[in-house]
Amino acid sequence: MAQATILLVDDEIPFVETLTKRLSKRGIDILSAFSGQDALLLLAAGNDVDIVILDVKMPGMGGLETLAEIKRQYPAIEVILLTGHSTVDTAVKGMRLGAFDYLTKPCELEALMEKIEDAAKVGSQRR
Ligand SMILES: [Mg+2]
Repeated sequence: MAQATILLVDDEIPFVETLTKRLSKRGIDILSAFSGQDALLLLAAGNDVDIVILDVKMPGMGGLETLAEIKRQYPAIEVILLTGHSTVDTAVKGMRLGAFDYLTKPCELEALMEKIEDAAKVGSQRR
């Protein structure tokens, strides 16, 4: 896989920690944030992120708001949304806002890996 840097954003701290461990074991370069605000700060600090994995349901700045801001400021970043059950509407809204794709939580690691690889391919073709 092309070496892509991932930013994982989710307010569930144990989920972020577990997924970060599992993805870094697979050689993926991964940063994490527990809120939309923190994610934007990490990007503003100049971290070179290719793909953002973004939880939709977060307190404060929600996932869709964060997505819109990421796409406005960094259109080349691909965003994969993590949505809960029965939030197809949210996923559709997210796709309209420029999300690359979405996954329903809880998601299988393999499914997430596939989406990451797809997003990395599309991203590298755009650059
Ligand atoms: Mg959440």
